[in-house]
Amino acid sequence: MTDVLLRGGLPWGLGAPADILVRDGRIDRVSLDPIDAPGARVLDVAGQLVLPGLVEAHCHLDKTLYGGPWVPHSADDTLSGRISNDLGRRAELGVPSVTRIAALLERMSAAGTTHVRTHTDIDPEAGLRGVEAVREAAAGSPIDVRQVAFPQHGVLTNPGTAELLEEALKSGVEAVGGLDPAGIDRDPVRHLDLVFGLAGRYGTHLDLHLHDGGSLGGWELELIIERTKVLGLGGRVAVSHAYALGQLDDAYQDRLAEGLAEAGVAVVTAAVYSFPVPPVKKLRAAGVTVACGHDGIRDLWGPYGSGDMLERAMHLAYRSTFRRDDDIELALEAATVGGARALGLDDYGLAPGDRADLVVVPAGSPAEAVVVHPARTLVMKDGVVLHN
Ligand SMILES: [Zn+2]
Repeated sequence: MTDVLLRGGLPWGLGAPADILVRDGRIDRVSLDPIDAPGARVLDVAGQLVLPGLVEAHCHLDKTLYGGPWVPHSADDTLSGRISNDLGRRAELGVPSVTRIAALLERMSAAGTTHVRTHTDIDPEAGLRGVEAVREAAAGSPIDVRQVAFPQHGVLTNPGTAELLEEALKSGVEAVGGLDPAGIDRDPVRHLDLVFGLAGRYGTHLDLHLHDGGSLGGWELELIIERTKVLGLGGRVAVSHAYALGQLDDAYQDRLAEGLAEAGVAVVTAAVYSFPVPPVKKLRAAGVTVACGHDGIRDLWGPYGSGDMLERAMHLAYRSTFRRDDDIELALEAATVGGARALGLDDYGLAPGDRADLVVVPAGSPAEAVVVHPARTLVMKDGVVLHN
């Protein structure tokens, strides 16, 4: 494997131009002085921002129609309308489609995403078809794709789903999911005991969709914090969406932020449409891991989503009404190191010894990279230049 030398870029957080030498898939050296590396492939990235690989921490690859013809959205625009549109048209549109998923992964990779966590529908009708389709597409992609066995249509209210979740985990799926333990499954204690039990038994991560709002959602977050602590699953549990966090009063938000940080529960937000966004700045100040993702990308639930995590970070910053550069940088953090922490990635970053998963952006600062999200100049995964 040829060494690669990135000449004169601006590594995020360093504050000065530096050379980065990549050897055997890892960052070998970062130096403010020019590196002399005979035989290395030298790439001039002077004046451009160098970031670690972007992390898409919440999407639904199995549902995507990306890369195919435009599918008009004309369904009844209510939650039940979206669910029936999704279920009713899957067969007609060939969802899940390995070709569509592969097309989206290609787009994500070109935009600098090196790691993806995707929630794959598991229910008695779909069985593990989605898991297999995602696996097949991921096998042909340089992106590290991790799945969540996701009970989109409930667990307790949908007999047979719990057994399939377990089957998915046995087959190697990296995380178990959950969905509105109160709002959908009507029994938060049993729902949480079930999914936490699976995560504990199979040693996997757990990432729950929590749309339940207000004090109900707040109470469910407390139940999640309690179980994470008791079972010692800190660092392996995430709550996606967590709309309640964006709706509760300051004092309750503070208590939950402290509890999430102490227990090691990450919050993953997509900041889509007008749904409530968790208070990113407060959560980070409390030490909570905050990650971000697109949620659906061009699927039967909605037509939006590009696969570009810098654009997603812009949406997160915008929805958080961030104007200051250091605030906007928090959104970039969610799309990079925050996601890496939530997914439990090892050796992630820009230090010597870290895996050489790198993205070069023609921007002079992190805030500019987020707001402008220009086309990436270079994408590298494990030391291999994928796009340049
Ligand atoms: Zn989702």
